[in-house]
Amino acid sequence: MTTRDELLAIARQAKEHVAWLERGGVSGVPRAPKQQPAKKPAAAPQKTSASPTTLQMIRDELGDCTRCKLHDKRTNIVYGVGNPDAPLVFVGEAPGADEDRTGEPFVGAAGQLLTKMIEAMGLGRQDVYICNILKCRPPGNRNPEPDEIEQCEPFLKKQLAAIRPRMIVALGKFAAQCLLRSDAPISRLRGSWKEYEGIPLMPTYHPAFLLRTPSAKREVWADLQEVMRELDRLGVARPKK
Ligand code: URA
Repeated sequence: MTTRDELLAIARQAKEHVAWLERGGVSGVPRAPKQQPAKKPAAAPQKTSASPTTLQMIRDELGDCTRCKLHDKRTNIVYGVGNPDAPLVFVGEAPGADEDRTGEPFVGAAGQLLTKMIEAMGLGRQDVYICNILKCRPPGNRNPEPDEIEQCEPFLKKQLAAIRPRMIVALGKFAAQCLLRSDAPISRLRGSWKEYEGIPLMPTYHPAFLLRTPSAKREVWADLQEVMRELDRLGVARPKK
């Protein structure tokens, strides 16, 4: 390792360590001046180094989770997959049967449609990060309940803080309402930039809804085109473009 590489590695570790302390509530760590959010979309945070170790630390903290009642019937915790340094994160609702069986988010029918959507954007699943509000399957795919969200969401928050994506796509009503602390219908939330902890967030319909309502694909494609415009504006590579 050259001296320059060593210095870069030390700087990267120091940065991750400071971010970790701050997320743990340690005060007195000097912060960069707060960025003023732009009108549309919100100012995207600058990306820094990849954070696979931090994501693994959060996974380790989650452990063999028994914080809510969903642990009882789950087969696998569905933590999240993809690029730990992703510029774009997709957040869904909760694992279904296929995800529970495999431990990977969005691998069933809705997941296959999501994969196609990602590819249509000139990206692959490996370029983005995919996760859910809940990490365990609600029985019979029922809606997430408030106590489950309360226990699980802090881990999603930490994952997003570790990845620090340039933007987030919230898939469906639950993800959008939960991340935005809103009870507005998804039909009203979708299609315009919102902000989650300083990160531009685009709500859109859930791929499972698109399977039932193919006519809504047009609106989702418009939302994703807006995301692509913003990725291009920020100079984020879309390898399969
Ligand atoms: N639906 C979701 O919201 N998430 C998944 O992982 C699968 C289906």
